[in-house]
Amino acid sequence: MIVEMRKKASQKEIDNVVHRAKSLGFSVQLNVGTDKTVIAILGSNTGQISTDIFAVFPGVDSVTRIMKPYKLASREFKPDRTIVKVGNLEIGAGRLIIMAGPCAVESKKQLEEATRIVKNAGASVLRGGAFKPRSSPFSFQGLEKTGLEYLVEVKKKYDIPVVTEVVDPHQVELVAQYADILQVGTRNMQNFSLLTEIGRIKHPVILKRGLANTVTEWLTAADYLLAGGNESVILCERGIRTFEDSTRFSIDISSIPVVKKFSHLPIIVDPSHAAGHYSLVPALARAAIAAGADGLLIEVHPNPKEALVDGLQSLTPSDFRRLMGELKLIAEALGRSL
Ligand code: PEP
Ligand code: MN
Repeated sequence: MIVEMRKKASQKEIDNVVHRAKSLGFSVQLNVGTDKTVIAILGSNTGQISTDIFAVFPGVDSVTRIMKPYKLASREFKPDRTIVKVGNLEIGAGRLIIMAGPCAVESKKQLEEATRIVKNAGASVLRGGAFKPRSSPFSFQGLEKTGLEYLVEVKKKYDIPVVTEVVDPHQVELVAQYADILQVGTRNMQNFSLLTEIGRIKHPVILKRGLANTVTEWLTAADYLLAGGNESVILCERGIRTFEDSTRFSIDISSIPVVKKFSHLPIIVDPSHAAGHYSLVPALARAAIAAGADGLLIEVHPNPKEALVDGLQSLTPSDFRRLMGELKLIAEALGRSL
């Protein structure tokens, strides 16, 4: 249930509503906007109480029920767009944010080369997995803690923030000590204990869409992060499983305007895992930007032929540079910047 306070509602009036909701056993989340406060009243049985319970309070403008399963990720709760700040970077503020780098951290040399390449080409975040959630237990699982250490070394040397995946709720604190942005992979979108832990530590996080999940399920999963008080949530469309098998996954371009319509959260797109093949990545990347994505997450490897993971879908340095030039043109044509 959403209680919209009047523009000039006093703190006391807001507190009274919060107090009443808590006395009924509900939890509350506040969206303190520039001109008014919105209070989300959360609980499994808010449907059983009358909206009048809150509508009668002084300072209350309106009380509505959110009929969708997600609440905090909805625009009803927060009409203004969320801008996620990572150091000086702003994700969702208009300028396109390109995150690029190898699928996995493989060695110090590989990571250094990749960082130099993507930074010189204009990427503003370095990606690289230290913990890899592989479909087979016999595949390379990542360098783990050593990989995190390499990420921090290059982050400092090249002055670029890093994003890396966390797969285990018990490692959230550890990974957050190294990474500027945590990544929740597609296979963990509904790993609720992982989401709850990341919600608790309030670290910027990319929530990838589950490979067989609807946008509604994705936004409902985002509520786990937001419910803990973590407002720095970035969504990432990475392709879903359909009957089409000419690509690794089917990129759902519609999810970009759909998310923009129903949620305040920024959305980026990973064209690499959707395409599965380097030759298809640039077209999907261009389409995502044209459709309004706030940025991209792209796999780039100094030498894709030698990659331990996802070499086939990784761009070469020259392909990445060319793509960045094309993206700049598209961004400018749409009145945005790169
Ligand atoms: C990745 O980004 O390398 C990755 C494993 O992605 P996803 O979770 O989308 O498969
Ligand atoms: Mn990958």
